[in-house]
Amino acid sequence: MRTHLAISAAVCILSSGAQAQVTLQAVTVGTHSQTTPLADSVYDTAFTQASSALNNDVGSNDVDCNVGMARYGAQVTYTEGDDNISDDVEYYDTTFRNNGTFMNVVDSINWCEVTGSAGGCGYPINGGTPFVITRAWALDPANGLAFAHEFGHVLGNTHDDDQPLQIMDPDGPTTSHTKVRTSTRCAMFREDIGCWNPGGCSLYALSFTAGEPPQRESQQRVDQFWEASSTASAQDKQSTHASRYADLSIEELGSRLILDRIPVEVDEYYGQKDVEVLKQMLADPARITYHNTILTLIGLISDGNAGDVHALTDYIMFTQNSAQKYAAAMALGYIVNRANSAEALAFLLTQRHSSDRAVARGSILGLGLSGNIRARAELEDAVSVTVVQDRGRNILNHALTDNLLIEELGLKGYYQRGRTR
Ligand SMILES: [Zn+2]
Repeated sequence: MRTHLAISAAVCILSSGAQAQVTLQAVTVGTHSQTTPLADSVYDTAFTQASSALNNDVGSNDVDCNVGMARYGAQVTYTEGDDNISDDVEYYDTTFRNNGTFMNVVDSINWCEVTGSAGGCGYPINGGTPFVITRAWALDPANGLAFAHEFGHVLGNTHDDDQPLQIMDPDGPTTSHTKVRTSTRCAMFREDIGCWNPGGCSLYALSFTAGEPPQRESQQRVDQFWEASSTASAQDKQSTHASRYADLSIEELGSRLILDRIPVEVDEYYGQKDVEVLKQMLADPARITYHNTILTLIGLISDGNAGDVHALTDYIMFTQNSAQKYAAAMALGYIVNRANSAEALAFLLTQRHSSDRAVARGSILGLGLSGNIRARAELEDAVSVTVVQDRGRNILNHALTDNLLIEELGLKGYYQRGRTR
C-alpha cells in the first residue's frame, strides 16, 4: 500500500502543469549490507529532483521528456557483490543478482568499464539493466541528477557535452545540470524497464548467478553497444577540455564528486602547486566526502616527488576509511605510470599482500593502472600460482589486463578509447 501511495503521489506531482502521457520509472533501491543505509526520504527527495529535471523544459537546449523517477517499494539490503566494487565480476554480482534491485548503493566504485574511482556506474547490457551509485553521491545535493544520469546510461544514453548543463554531461552533474537536449534522448529515458505494474513485475529479464563471471553473451552485447556508440563518442571527444578547467580552481575541482568520467587530462591544466593545495585538503577530515576526488587528482597531477608519494602511502596506512584506501592506492598506480616512482611501486608490490582487504585489493588495482612491467611480472606470477577460480584470481587477472592495456595505450588512451562514460 505504501508503494502505491508513494507512486500515486509522484504521478500527481508529475502531472501538474505537464503534458499528458508522463511515464514514471519506478526504481527499487537496494543497499549493500556493509554500507550504512540512508533514510527513504533521501531517495524520495532525490527522485523528485530527477523528475523535475526530466519533466520540465527550461529552454535553451532542453526538452520536456515527460518522464519521472520514483522509489519503488521498500528499500532492500543485499549481500551479493561487494560494498567496494572493484572489478567486472563484482559489478555484475551487484547488479545482475537474483531478486535484485534496480539502483544499488555501495561505499565505493572502483571499476566502471575501466578501473578508477567513480561515483556511479550504469553499464548498458540490455535495455533497463540495474545501476550502482555510491553512498556519497546519494547524499550529494545533485543526487537525483546523478541517479538520472546513470539511469540514462543503462537505457542507452551516452555522454553529452555539446551544450552546457546536460544531465548526461560527463563532468556533471551539479544541481544546474537539469537538461536533456533531444527528443531521442528523452525517448530513451522513457524506455520500458519492465517494472510498471505493482506486484509481479520483472525488473529485468537477464539473470545472473552471483559469483560467476559475466556470461559471454552479455559481454558480446556490451561490446556491440560500445561499437555502435564509438562514432558518437569520437565526436563527443572534440569538446573543449580546456573550457572544463579554465575557470575552475583546484579547490573547486577537489570539492566535487567524480561521477563516471576519470578526468585523466588534468595534468595539462594543473601543476605541482595545485597538488600542495590538494594535500592540505586531504589533511582535512571535514572533507572526507571528497577525499576520493582529491586522491585521484593528486595521482593524476603529481610529478611523483617523495612528499606526494608519502602523503598517499601515509593516508593508506592511517586512514580508517576502506573506500578511500582504494582511491589512494589507485593514485599511487597513476604516479608509477606517469612518474615511474620506484617508491610508489615498491609500496604497491608489498601492500598487495596486506591483511587489510581494502589495502591489498586497492594495491592490486594500482599495479594494474601502473602499466609497469615489474608490476605485470608480479601479477602474472600471482595469477599462475592461484589455482582456484576465485575472486582473488579474478581481480589479479583484471589488473593484469589493465596493465597490458595501459602499457599499450597510455593512461589517457586507456580512459579515452572510444568509451562514453
Ligand atoms: Zn556518465
